[in-house]
Amino acid sequence: MNPILDLAANPAGLQALLGALDGPHLLVGIYDPSDRLEFANATFRQAFQLDDTTHPMTFADVILHGVLRRCGTRIDRSDVQDFIADTQARRRAKPGQRTFATDLVDGRWFWMNETLLENGWLTVIGTEISALRHGEQALIAARDRALHEARTDALTGLANRRHSLSYLELTISAFVPAAVPLAVALIDLDHFKLINDTHGHAAGDAVLRDFADVSRAAMRQSDLVGRIGGEEFLLVFPGTSVDDAAAAVERMRDSLAERSVFIQGHAPIVYSFSSGVCGVEPTDDVNTALARADRALYAAKRTGRNRVVSRHAGHV
Ligand code: GH3
Ligand code: MG
Ligand code: MG
Repeated sequence: MNPILDLAANPAGLQALLGALDGPHLLVGIYDPSDRLEFANATFRQAFQLDDTTHPMTFADVILHGVLRRCGTRIDRSDVQDFIADTQARRRAKPGQRTFATDLVDGRWFWMNETLLENGWLTVIGTEISALRHGEQALIAARDRALHEARTDALTGLANRRHSLSYLELTISAFVPAAVPLAVALIDLDHFKLINDTHGHAAGDAVLRDFADVSRAAMRQSDLVGRIGGEEFLLVFPGTSVDDAAAAVERMRDSLAERSVFIQGHAPIVYSFSSGVCGVEPTDDVNTALARADRALYAAKRTGRNRVVSRHAGHV
């Protein structure tokens, strides 16, 4: 007794069965042992634009037809023949059922069940899961955005204090034991309170954003620049000597000398910074490394501002 044959013997039952196979969100295809597509329901035919094809098509023909018409399965790989060969090997490896998600060129996603019988006939039934998949992608995008925001200073778009300090901690633990040079710089804008007092808080904010642009442009991909206080910034230079880091900060200072920030109704604002640069040493942690850079910064302020002071190893 086979319940499906029993059902199919009853005309209404057969109609119910066939109706279920032709829903708009269900993709059904049946291939014979020589891999010819013997049956494709309306959703399948529409997805691969098969309605105007007359000759029998194999699985490979169906995929190629989709590629030519820019429809059907989305294939990322440049070599379609590779895709067909790989898929072919998997789908006919051994009798049984295989399940996987697949996406179409039109953006729809299907959860596929492929069943290979002992006699070589192969049935594929796909259930549309676009809504689930797009929801999942929206969640992933939202999570990525939240992660980015949690690490970013809202005013300048630079790394925020927490992210800057954890980046420094990470680079110290990765670089210092391996004896790879690592330099840090602290930068503090000069007389920033005066800029606020003279031009207003919004102008002060514009100066902070301007400095963020300058520092971003001056840094390499592996360097980090973060805002760790009101007008204080931390720069981390992995794989860089103190002298090279100090030279990079000097270049930044030079480029400020030629710059002004323009705010409507105000005279152009010029500004400068002071910086302390030092190398991270084998006995350092985040606090001792920052304390050394801070002492150098303090020396830069004390000796007239708008300057870079560097501390080599052994210097207290
Ligand atoms: P110094 O050269 O010694 O560093 O003097 P300074 O005036 O820069 O230093 P001070 O620490 O006295 O002043 C820093 C000012 O930065 C005070 C504070 O109001 C301002 N500030 C902090 N955060 C922000 C911000 O987000 N926007 C603006 N516009 N100002 C800020
Ligand atoms: Mg300060
Ligand atoms: Mg300052």
